[in-house]
Amino acid sequence: MPMNIALIAHDRKKDEIVNFVTAYESVFEQHRLYATGTTGTRIMEKTKLNVHRFMSGPLGGDQQIGAMVATNEMDLIIFLRDPLMAQPHEPDIIALLRLCDVQGIPCATNIATAEILVKALDRGDFAWRELVHKYKPGVDG
Ligand code: PGA
Repeated sequence: MPMNIALIAHDRKKDEIVNFVTAYESVFEQHRLYATGTTGTRIMEKTKLNVHRFMSGPLGGDQQIGAMVATNEMDLIIFLRDPLMAQPHEPDIIALLRLCDVQGIPCATNIATAEILVKALDRGDFAWRELVHKYKPGVDG
């Protein structure tokens, strides 16, 4: 079953997320992809993947993705944040990560964790989320 996956990368992590998504393109193409504006554009430029793009992160994109997490509509978040540079939208970043913990949504904030989660996704370890899709109308919208 297709999962809803969010992809976000801060500026100095954008090459990393593009390379990562390219490497696992055959996995990602089986799912519905969402991203903050610039991250989504960069991924679409380099792959054949279709990505629903929200606002750019500093303009509210993290909050838009957070809204989907709050309503339990997001199954996996890959959020390559920059731990060495202050971000103007730090409160939004914290809010998104908090909502992942509220709902218990798998969220990778570095490439090593992202790789483990994508391999788990490919193995079918996200089957428990199918129950959410089944009993929550609108999740597949
Ligand atoms: P962006 O947003 O993909 O639009 O750059 C991500 C961020 O920097 O928060």
